[in-house]
Amino acid sequence: MTTGGKPRTTILDARGAAPERVLFGLWNEELGEALRGFGLLRYRIRQLETALYRQKVAEFAEVTTWPKELREKVAAGFRVGLPEIVETFRSVDGTERYLIAGRDGQTVETVWMPEGDGGEEGDSGSEEGDAESAGSKPWSRATICVSSQIGCAVNCQFCLTAKLGIIRNLSAGEIAGQVAAVLKRQGAEPGRDRINLVFMGMGEPFLNYEAFIAAVRLLAGPMEIPESRMTVSTSGIVPGILRFAQEKVRPKLAISLNAPNDVVREGIMPITRKWSIAEVMEAVRQAPLRQKERVTFEYVLLGGVNDKLEHADEVVKLVRRAQFPAKVNLIAWNPGPGVPFTMPSAEDVARFQERLREQGVPAFVRRPRGRDIYAACGQLKKTGSSQ
Ligand code: SAH
Ligand code: SF4
Repeated sequence: MTTGGKPRTTILDARGAAPERVLFGLWNEELGEALRGFGLLRYRIRQLETALYRQKVAEFAEVTTWPKELREKVAAGFRVGLPEIVETFRSVDGTERYLIAGRDGQTVETVWMPEGDGGEEGDSGSEEGDAESAGSKPWSRATICVSSQIGCAVNCQFCLTAKLGIIRNLSAGEIAGQVAAVLKRQGAEPGRDRINLVFMGMGEPFLNYEAFIAAVRLLAGPMEIPESRMTVSTSGIVPGILRFAQEKVRPKLAISLNAPNDVVREGIMPITRKWSIAEVMEAVRQAPLRQKERVTFEYVLLGGVNDKLEHADEVVKLVRRAQFPAKVNLIAWNPGPGVPFTMPSAEDVARFQERLREQGVPAFVRRPRGRDIYAACGQLKKTGSSQ
């Protein structure tokens, strides 16, 4: 099995000197291929995989299963390249937001949410295993919110990331590497701890499809996070959804619906002009669901724009017409500088949820996490301490 796509492993070091190759992000055949010149036996590659993806080593010196001479030989032409957390912001609610340095020094944002974000509510079996995984840690489960691009091209009017425009795609190693860096910092082990991943950070995963799906395979493979504990959110990129529908290793799917109809949606998500809600629904219908799996519709409530009861009634109709099992995750809009919307009142959020529920649509309100450190949904925009 290959990790798919062409890996981008060439980097310039800090001095802009000769390119070195980064190994983090490669596994199985790709790793063997990259190191072919060393004539390594298969078990040596496996030892390196364990070091990279379980131990999460930062340097070859830590690959203690390898003899010293081998480590030194390989280190002359390669770097481990585990992404590095360069800044941490801690919220009063325990959420942590990190700036993680990519291969060119650009930073991406990743968020750690102990005890999840509430978005998993209503997912089948989400509580199982909590008790025994608690151990001595202050959390019994956690969700990591992962970025797929630096910036985003989709231009949703309510989202802070949109303000950046698209800066660049992340590589598979940079996407999976965010998870590795955070697990290492937290001392979390997917085999033992209940770790959920949401691809809901900066960027549109389905506009960086190859790297996103290669990262999923790496995470589900040697990094041992079951894909059923991963959720990818898309603004509704139809060709991406159709490709995703064909994948064998596939996270759960969330669609950023955010509006009751195309007219309202066009006003806040211009991408609707390219793919209508009906086209998105049709594409989602192609994806085979696992037992008890439901597709999530995310719905950001924007005060006065899409939070009225008649909007809720339209959402009910949309969900019924969808003809696949679904639930709605309501997110009260998180404010950001220069983004011209208002937060809905707590009563409007509760009324909207109730209106969906009384008509049989499972609806959950996502708890905002880390608002004080700009870690909440749609607030990710390279906000460092100096900004
Ligand atoms: N680009 C993907 C995934 C990242 S955005 C997507 O749009 O689906 C993750 C979620 O945050 C989306 O559902 C999006 O609608 C929501 N979101 C964006 N800005 C927000 C804000 N300011 N407040 C609350 N949710 C927001
Ligand atoms: Fe991009 Fe998602 Fe923000 Fe829209 S909501 S601009 S798709 S990150």
